[in-house]
Amino acid sequence: MIGNKYGTHRVLEPKGVLPQPALKLNNDMDVLYDNEILVNVSMLNIDAASFTQIKNEVGSDGEKVANKIMEIVNERGKMHNPVTGSGGMLIGKIAKIGKALENKVNVKVGDEIATLVSLSLTPLKIEKIKKVHLDTDQVEVEAKAIIFESGVYAKLPSDMDRKLALAVLDVAGAPAQTARLVNPGDTVVIIGAAGKSGILCSYVAKKYAGATGKIVALVHSQKKAKHLEKIGITNVVEVDATDAVKVEEAVSKFTNGKMADVTINVVNVPNTEMASILATKEYGTVYFFSMATSFTKAALGAEGVGKDVNMIIGNGYMTGHAEIALETVRESKEIQEIFQSLYVN
Ligand code: NAP
Repeated sequence: MIGNKYGTHRVLEPKGVLPQPALKLNNDMDVLYDNEILVNVSMLNIDAASFTQIKNEVGSDGEKVANKIMEIVNERGKMHNPVTGSGGMLIGKIAKIGKALENKVNVKVGDEIATLVSLSLTPLKIEKIKKVHLDTDQVEVEAKAIIFESGVYAKLPSDMDRKLALAVLDVAGAPAQTARLVNPGDTVVIIGAAGKSGILCSYVAKKYAGATGKIVALVHSQKKAKHLEKIGITNVVEVDATDAVKVEEAVSKFTNGKMADVTINVVNVPNTEMASILATKEYGTVYFFSMATSFTKAALGAEGVGKDVNMIIGNGYMTGHAEIALETVRESKEIQEIFQSLYVN
């Protein structure tokens, strides 16, 4: 029994769409197609924009968040937040490999892997939510999931704590894309710089901008700014990214009015499109990694202020992104310490 390689055979509603935009997937785990992989899931990493939205909706309470996650997964057959549209990723052990994939994949039953495709398209059945970690977006579960033939996943590295690896792999696209976008001498503004992807992007931006470049890190509160100092980022500004004019003023001050060659948006809240656009110089680049980004607000907002900037949608996938993200962590003792304290201890 061969299913569609993208998983359309599991789409229940509406018919004819791919699993990500679908409203409902078939999450029957008793039937495994020959080109699917079954995973025993131990942990979910809910996408930061989704987790923040859920906490804002039901309150920052483990049980209420767990109930909301259960409600979404029972309704949709996948962890696809109906408000943000985003998912997250998971770690688990390979339980079964469909016959048609047995000789094609580089994993075997029992291997622990992290999915690198979104939970918003991954059939998921949760038996039990064991613990919700409100401060790390991670959720311990007993669950089962399906990886389609086109699915991307990585074996968990043996030299890193699994919670740390999960946290890093969740945002692997961001540091990888930053490495591609930043050139020597660039001024780079990072909005949401003290967050998980913010720290990774700040480190990579500093490395690629080099001695003649400048990194301006915008943070929500000074309390996490110490992490940025640890990785050598000295231009740290506390400003609310939903206040576009204040952000423009702050970036102008730090760049003597020149503004950013590249702006990287890694916040977990909506309404920060204009701050990103105003922070960027004419013909500069804005990289919207945040899942709370609105295409309409960005497109019409840039037009509305007459700003000719190149805007990039943060594709979660990039060639080699998992390795680039893990290597970034291996390279920096400081990031290891910061992430260890935030996601492991
Ligand atoms: P995170 O660790 O929660 O970091 C988000 C940061 O944004 C935090 O430091 C937070 O500061 C800051 N922030 C929140 N509100 C702000 C405001 N009004 N002004 C300035 N800063 C503000 O999130 P993450 O895991 O790095 O993820 C970052 C974004 O990437 C999220 O939107 C997530 O959904 C998205 N994402 C995208 C992809 C993709 O494929 N494109 C994949 C994974 C994640 P405080 O903590 O102080 O509030």
